[in-house]
Amino acid sequence: MGLFSKDIENMNDLYIHTLRDIYYAEKKIVKALPKMIEKATNSNLRQGFETHLEETRTHVSRLEKVFELEGVEAKGVTCPAIDGIIDEANEIAGEVDDKNVLDAALIAAAQAVEHYEMTRYGTLISWAEELGRSQSAAILRDTLEEEKATDDKLSDLAESRVNQAAA
Ligand code: FE
Ligand code: FE
Repeated sequence: MGLFSKDIENMNDLYIHTLRDIYYAEKKIVKALPKMIEKATNSNLRQGFETHLEETRTHVSRLEKVFELEGVEAKGVTCPAIDGIIDEANEIAGEVDDKNVLDAALIAAAQAVEHYEMTRYGTLISWAEELGRSQSAAILRDTLEEEKATDDKLSDLAESRVNQAAA
């Protein structure tokens, strides 16, 4: 994320840079989820991915609202972290033939994505508050809640997959 680039001099610069990092990530996730929906076998998992695809589109537009509130251009900066998580997911999913194992791999990949988003939004909310941007913080918190709920749903799906596999 070019953390040490010279254009980041203060907390506000760092906050805007990190908004652009997660903006890039959310748009990348919008592109990745349809492929995960295609690969998922379990219908609840597929449905969960479809629901989260819609939510993720909302996350993109919420960030655009935040950029507007901050008076800066809505643009992404390359986020190698999310690129790596998604590349790894595609690589593993491409190698797995067994449907049950493939679903397990998809759940694990999706949880890695949600956890990445949760850490970013958690940080952004505290920085927004530090900088006195309470309206932006509230918008970011709405998204964080949906990421957490998605992660919880994925944990439940992972558990029911294990139970089914054992039955
Ligand atoms: Fe998101
Ligand atoms: Fe998400």
